[in-house]
Amino acid sequence: MTSLPDWLTYNRDSATLAAMLDSSLSTSLESLATESRDLTLRRFGRTMTLYAPLYLSNFCSSGCAYCGFASDRKTPRRRLEPDELRRELSAMKQLGITDILLLTGERTHNADFDYLLRSVDIAAHEMQRISVESFPMSIKEYRALADSGCTAITIYQETYNRERYENLHRWGPKKDFIERLETPARALEGGMKTVGLGVLLGLSDPREDALNLYRHVRYLGRTYWRAGISVSFPRLRPQTGGYEPPFPVDDHSLARMIFAFRIALPDVELVLSTRESAAYRDGMAGLGITRMSIESRTTVGGYHDLDNNEKGQFDVFDDRSAQEFCNAMRAKNIEPVFKNWEPAYNGPADGNSTILHPVKLQPCL
Ligand code: SF4
Repeated sequence: MTSLPDWLTYNRDSATLAAMLDSSLSTSLESLATESRDLTLRRFGRTMTLYAPLYLSNFCSSGCAYCGFASDRKTPRRRLEPDELRRELSAMKQLGITDILLLTGERTHNADFDYLLRSVDIAAHEMQRISVESFPMSIKEYRALADSGCTAITIYQETYNRERYENLHRWGPKKDFIERLETPARALEGGMKTVGLGVLLGLSDPREDALNLYRHVRYLGRTYWRAGISVSFPRLRPQTGGYEPPFPVDDHSLARMIFAFRIALPDVELVLSTRESAAYRDGMAGLGITRMSIESRTTVGGYHDLDNNEKGQFDVFDDRSAQEFCNAMRAKNIEPVFKNWEPAYNGPADGNSTILHPVKLQPCL
């Protein structure tokens, strides 16, 4: 068995985070919230950047126990062909969405790298920002995706506990723990500007996973100091297959984790998706979270094919419209925005520019 990388067992700089995660120690949730809120305001202002997921395909070759798209589920399988993808993008634009996350399952002959690359190319002509959450790729493949207009990769380790990982990933390429662990670094080597990390909360001991996630962020930050890094806090939601979380994370524990990450990593983007309720998301806005998904559909074609009754990858909790969400943010004096400064960020084609252009944000709706 391949041994774990040194950074994953490096304890020294995670002691402060460990203390903040421990509710039995003296730091109260209220004092963490206050510090987290002040840091968020200072580093990110009163803004919330928005994105929406677009499922390109639900074919998958892996058997993750917690996923509605695992290859043993009876879910009908399909992928968006170019014309359908254009219709999907158009429907999203009508909702005001210009920043999207393209998703597929693990690599299959139905949804392979060439299919993904073609899809990115189509989407990049329509949207301001394209991210991808898909299968692990080679540096060469990431470079090709970056050249086509993808600027960010999301790849969650799901859990950093190797034994739990082995049990949860029943078959398929995702079973390779080390391959997945090394993927964010390969994406950055291949020219991605940002990587999104996370664990699926509920699968394993959340404190252990949070500390290892933090070590991963620190390692990438030290090694790829120009990279943007974001951290997500997805909690397991009901899904086809009915997998129940053996380590449920309650609202207070999740809030503590978010505040602790903000304090320990003041410049890192923290993401909260529509897996959470409207009330919880509204409550966390301004207290640490700086990026949220909106109008999420977890089925393939869910934006343009409104008659589709298929089950998605998981059940969405916050199902407000973009308009309702933006109104809620403004009521909290937070401006919801889609980012449109990617070209300035990317700089000249030689990729050697530093990020010093003024940021211009496009208000949402
Ligand atoms: S989590 Fe991803 S890789 Fe695992 S079964 Fe679901 S779609 Fe496939």
